[in-house]
Amino acid sequence: MNPVYTQLGTTIFEAMSARARASGAINLGQGFPDGRGPEDVLAEAARALIEESNQYPPMLGTALLRQAVVGHYRAHQGLDLALEEVIVTSGATEALACAIFALVSPGDEVVMFQPLYDAYLPLVERAGGVAKLVRLEPPHWRITADALAAVASDRTRLVILNSPLNPAGTLVNAAERALLADFCVAHDAIAICDEVWEHVMFDGAQHRSLIAEPGMRERTVKIGSAGKIFSLTGWKVGWMCAAPQIAEVLAKAHQFMTFTTAPNLQAGAAYGLGKDRRYFEEMRAGYQRSRDRLTAGLVGLGYAVLPCAATYFVNIDLTASGVEMGDVAFAEWLIAEAGVATIPVSAFYAEAPVTNVVRLCFAKQDATLDAALARMERRP
Ligand code: PMP
Ligand code: GLN
Repeated sequence: MNPVYTQLGTTIFEAMSARARASGAINLGQGFPDGRGPEDVLAEAARALIEESNQYPPMLGTALLRQAVVGHYRAHQGLDLALEEVIVTSGATEALACAIFALVSPGDEVVMFQPLYDAYLPLVERAGGVAKLVRLEPPHWRITADALAAVASDRTRLVILNSPLNPAGTLVNAAERALLADFCVAHDAIAICDEVWEHVMFDGAQHRSLIAEPGMRERTVKIGSAGKIFSLTGWKVGWMCAAPQIAEVLAKAHQFMTFTTAPNLQAGAAYGLGKDRRYFEEMRAGYQRSRDRLTAGLVGLGYAVLPCAATYFVNIDLTASGVEMGDVAFAEWLIAEAGVATIPVSAFYAEAPVTNVVRLCFAKQDATLDAALARMERRP
């Protein structure tokens, strides 16, 4: 058996959700909304299921969805992508796996940033890559030139960037984007940009992809997810966009990973991407209200909450909150004693973890957030 997998635990998201289901805890752990999602997008997928083909769609995705991705990024991010540069995948997770397996050869060094979405490291290791980890720290979680220089070598081949960043709730700023682009160009490295949170931003923040930086158009794989954009995380429809010479190789990985993705869900996602700007603004405004509701409640209970500019997550700084437990112990106490599931942020570190931050998902109905806050009136 392959040691990468025999030595791997179950993801913290699944572990916490399973415990919440078993114990009746309110689940603010794994990131998923508890609403139904947009009815018109659901209706379009349902219509396509009944009225259209349920046989294999084209390997690279339906022309309708690929065209919708091109149009969406033109309208919302000013990008000029061609149809041949878009490959539909079964969730961003499949896109990450395809990109990593297609682009990493044994011994290649891959720069990643901790906190690290949990799929990255095992995929890089399974591909034979060598992880070079940059450690980001609260409260600002910023990438510095010195930190990048410390992990650079003549074997640097790839950078994996997640922005907006789960779990930190930050976006890379202009200086960081310039730094990363210069780094990739200087090392002739490709950037895999996990942008699944690209629409979930607050207070007027703007998402800018690394693909738009000078020198990056030909060396970026931009990954998105309909699950996040439409609050339908179970759909597992995603895509990867890259210049043709990279996309051709990504397609080879995709053809033997899943080959294709449910056609009715592709129809729903294509319809959704064409919705007018107001939908996206209202979605953001709704989540912003939920962020503010949970934050105000937590502050009212004496917790120090880190700033959240994006994603569905707020983080409690335990040290600043006067909690003397580490994040794992606190999350354990909270689920066992108060009946609220959260995610200890140390789970996002492979080495030298930050141990005083706990993540809570606010993409929930007001009643769910209020019930969780009521349970959290008990403090350890
Ligand atoms: N990357 C990040 C940073 C995520 O937060 C998630 C899901 N929450 C994914 C990838 C996976 O996306 P999908 O469900 O589309 O596979
Ligand atoms: N990305 C989600 C989160 O951060 C979890 C996704 C999963 O469970 N695979 O909570």
